[in-house]
Amino acid sequence: MNVLVINCGSSSLKFQLINSDTEAVAAKGLCERIGIDGRLVYQPAGGEKEVTEAAMPTHTEAIRMVLDALVNPATGVLKSLDEVEAIGHRVLHGGSKITESRVIDQEVIDVIDECCDLGPLHNPANLMGIRACMELMPGKPNVAVFDTAFHQTMPAKAYRYAIPTKFYEEYAVRKYGFHGTSHSFVSKETIKYLGLDPENSKVIVCHLGNGSSISAVKDSKCVDTSMGLTPLEGLLMGTRSGDLDPAVLEFVCKKENIDVSEMLRILNKESGVYALSNGLSSDFRDLEEAKNNGNEAAGLALDAFSYRVAKYVGSYVAAMNGVDAIAFTGGIGENASLVRAQVLGYLGYLGIKMDEEQNKKRGENFVLSTADSKVKVAVIPTNEELAICRETVALVK
Ligand code: ADP
Repeated sequence: MNVLVINCGSSSLKFQLINSDTEAVAAKGLCERIGIDGRLVYQPAGGEKEVTEAAMPTHTEAIRMVLDALVNPATGVLKSLDEVEAIGHRVLHGGSKITESRVIDQEVIDVIDECCDLGPLHNPANLMGIRACMELMPGKPNVAVFDTAFHQTMPAKAYRYAIPTKFYEEYAVRKYGFHGTSHSFVSKETIKYLGLDPENSKVIVCHLGNGSSISAVKDSKCVDTSMGLTPLEGLLMGTRSGDLDPAVLEFVCKKENIDVSEMLRILNKESGVYALSNGLSSDFRDLEEAKNNGNEAAGLALDAFSYRVAKYVGSYVAAMNGVDAIAFTGGIGENASLVRAQVLGYLGYLGIKMDEEQNKKRGENFVLSTADSKVKVAVIPTNEELAICRETVALVK
């Protein structure tokens, strides 16, 4: 089955056409600067990247260009759009009503719409992508795969904030968690790869990328995760602060004479390792290089990042009363040997031993711990598009 996987951001759209039988990617690419001017990057499997500049006032034009590229007689990979059998959409926020992936009908559209205030940048864009696909490929099944769904198994003690109940009951203020598609995919792959029992296992997934989050997965179900109502909570990230004393908001707003929205912009866009490195970079490759050249602020940024990851791992070991395996994933988790070594350096008390040679590897499934380590540690590359494709096929077959 050919599945078109669509991931819409506010001004961008990533896509992959995947053959679900072989799980091979037939073509992929992205549309950028939607609503500004417009640029399509398209790449068929084994072929060169093609860049086309063209007006994309909305996501509908962007998706039309993607579909045209897929059936283009010269570089397309389909004879006709009839060969697309289903479309899988990444959707940010499903609130508390959505606990799993769903075939899109009016009820699902209404929930995504209702959750726009919880995901103001992404949910409206996700809806635009869904509506454009329905218009351009009428009759084809569309499936929504939610970033929040995997975390809906968390118990109330994990997801409730200790603030007045009214805020929870009337405004749905609680921890939701994000990157759920990745946490679900990687925890399943980890269980399979390490030969654990899906019904009796304790796995901690560290998804470390530009946005980073950790989840505790007991018996294949999420019991806690580090991101919250929004992706700002938890680990410190490329440019996000993660956890901090909420009183910092008012304190700095008064000092700087700025409002809460501006402060939140700073906490989302100008904080994290970017801030701790004094604005040097949010990219861990730059930070590692600078640290190696003696830049102390870059060193502090990396230390603070790894320290926070290790603290969350420790708290999730407590949450599950043990751990069988820890998985690293995301751009940093899959590639940054230094961060992995720093994090595991804190976890010797769990009987974890890292294999130095193995830690030089990158970007594939591998075991990072030694044979006598009490807890298995693995690197398991995430693949959110493939996860969305699998969920889509499971629902439309
Ligand atoms: P996103 O959250 O945007 O999906 P990714 O998961 O792709 O992010 O992770 C991007 C980050 O991965 C980059 O900012 C960079 O810090 C880090 N990264 C990628 N490759 C390497 C590498 N070889 N060494 C260290 N860090 C890396």
